[in-house]
Parts: sequence; structure tokens; C-alpha cells
Amino acid sequence: MKITSVEVLTAMMPRAVPRGYENRRWEELPTIVAIVRTDTGIEGIGHTITLNHEFTRSLATMVGELGESLIGLDPRRTEQCLGKMLYPANWVGPGGMLNIAACAIDIAIWDIVGKDLGQPLWRLLGGATDRVRVYESGMLIGVDIDTIQRGAEAALKAGYRAMKMRPGPDRHGRAADAVARVRAVRDVIGYDVDLMYDVNQTWTPSRAIQVGRALEPFELFWIEDPTLMHDVVGQAAIARALDVPVCAGEYHYDMPPLLKLLEARAVDYLMVDMMRMGGITQFRKVAAMAEAFGVPVASHLIPEVFCHCIAAIPNGLIVEGMPWTQGLFCGLPDLVDGKLVLSERPGHGLELDPDAVRRLRVS
Ligand SMILES: [Mg+2]
Repeated sequence: MKITSVEVLTAMMPRAVPRGYENRRWEELPTIVAIVRTDTGIEGIGHTITLNHEFTRSLATMVGELGESLIGLDPRRTEQCLGKMLYPANWVGPGGMLNIAACAIDIAIWDIVGKDLGQPLWRLLGGATDRVRVYESGMLIGVDIDTIQRGAEAALKAGYRAMKMRPGPDRHGRAADAVARVRAVRDVIGYDVDLMYDVNQTWTPSRAIQVGRALEPFELFWIEDPTLMHDVVGQAAIARALDVPVCAGEYHYDMPPLLKLLEARAVDYLMVDMMRMGGITQFRKVAAMAEAFGVPVASHLIPEVFCHCIAAIPNGLIVEGMPWTQGLFCGLPDLVDGKLVLSERPGHGLELDPDAVRRLRVS
């Protein structure tokens, strides 16, 4: 089997703009899709995103150029394909746009492997389970308490049994304000639904310990990225000081920085952004690395594909249910009892929705 062509398309996915965030560029999410074709007629699709509009064309170009470099290769040789993408491009990497772009191609290649073998990816990659926990990640974003309470109600109504909130706009205000926001959400969802709390690197270690202790009665499922991504020592101190688990890792590229987090015991749960890893091929290695430390793994964004990776591994914890890119595809997994139920369709099981492509494609 040989790769014969790679087509790249860019779509602007509409996003709900949370109240209080109107001045940000929330309204559209640039999504780059790679369609990798082979001489057998099997084709695979993969996608990647950027949160900022500014370098959308550069990212699409990078996906296209990486795809061209694989023409003539056998897509079943996933390591050869990834090596062919990452090594020659190392001068403009490692990490950054190179990994984000390679991810789209790597997903498409695994989609081809699954279709060739007639196996869904969750089973092909290990098959630990065929249904995986998911938390809602986009509905509880808001400045005021009323907005996040309504978001929590909507998440419950949609069938989620876990959801994530963020601190308020004044991240250095009184700990009592953080407590009030979390209490307001617990008032809506009770304690049988899991609640994550994402700080997005905006606290100092001492602040994280101060507020984290104040939040301990609310049984948070995790506190995420409490401090700066490279402050491994500070984060390890937070993890030691707090009873609530610390989850981090999404900001890092490639394996070595994640190994440092694990070695320093700076994470109770490892969050892996598979785009920043360069795709599924590298994710598997990170997941095995975390397993050696007894650390469960959570995914970041693109749940429609990464649910397969979390379901496949023995230490898969939960999938981030961020709905931004799902509107582009048919064949999404069903949400049942707070879990994504994965299908028997080969590969990742997704197909581009022709109507969505017609409406949202910009190049
Ligand atoms: Mg996060």
C-alpha cells in the first residue's frame, strides 16, 4: 500500500461565545483537515486545530507539505511515516507548529491502518474498553456565577456526569470568591457528578496551595495546570500540599517534559495534548510512560478522535468533551450514562459531513 496524495482543507468551526468573552476571537475555530489517499482506494482523514486565526494558512501549508513528503510511503508503517515528517522538519521544530501539523496526518494514517485491518482504533490500539468516561468542558465558561450555573444545568441535561469549570475573572482575588463559584456549581450538580477546575497556569504555587486548600471540601476531581507549565518544582510542591489531585501536561510538546513532570511527582493525572505530541503514534508512548509511574491519562480537545486513545489504554482516565470540532463529522460516538460508546466502524469511524464542509470550508 502506498500513499498517493494528500488533500488539505480548512474549515472555520462556529463556536458559542460565552458571556463576558465577547471581545475575544471566540466565534470561529480554524480547523485543518488532511485527507490521505492510497493506491488501494482506502483513504484516511485527520484533523488539527489552532486557537488563533493568525497562522491558519501557515498551519494548513505545513500540513500539506508534510503530507507531500509521505507520497510513496506505506501508511501502515506508522513510525516510518512519523519519522519522515518529524526528522527533516526538525529545523523548524521540534514541537510548535510542526507537531500540531503532523498530528492531522498521523491521525489520517491511523485511520487508514484501521480501515485496512477492518478494526476500530480503540481496539487496534489496545482495546482496554469500548466505552470511556467524558467530561463536558465548554459549557461552564463565564464571568458571572449565574452563567456557570446555567452551564452546569445544560451539561447535566446533555447527559454528562462530569464537567469542568474555571476560576473567575479575578484570579488573584479573595479565596472566598473562588469558593463561592465552586459552591454555586456544586449546588446545581451535587456530589455524584465530578467537577474539574482548570486554572490554566494562572496561579503562583503559594496561591494554588492557598486556594486549593479552601476548595478541598468541594471534592474537586482535579485542579488543572495550577501554575506555570515549566515550574516543575512549584507544581510538585502543590501536588504534595493538596489532597485534591493535580492534573497537568496539556501545554507540553514531545515526551521529555512530560517525563520530567512524572519523575518529579508533579502530576497525579497526566493530561496529554495529542496535537502537541504529533498525533496518536507518540501518544501511545507517553501513555506507556505514565503507566510506568502509575499515573492515569486524560486527553485534551478533539474528543471525537482522542476518545479512541483513552479507551485503548489501561490507564485511560477520561476524555475532555470539547465540542468545537465535532460539527464537521458524521459517525460521532454516542454519549450514554456519561460515557462515550465507541463503535465497530473501522479506523476512527468519522466521515466528513458534506453539508458541514460546504458551509464551513474556507480553503
Ligand atoms: Mg486545560
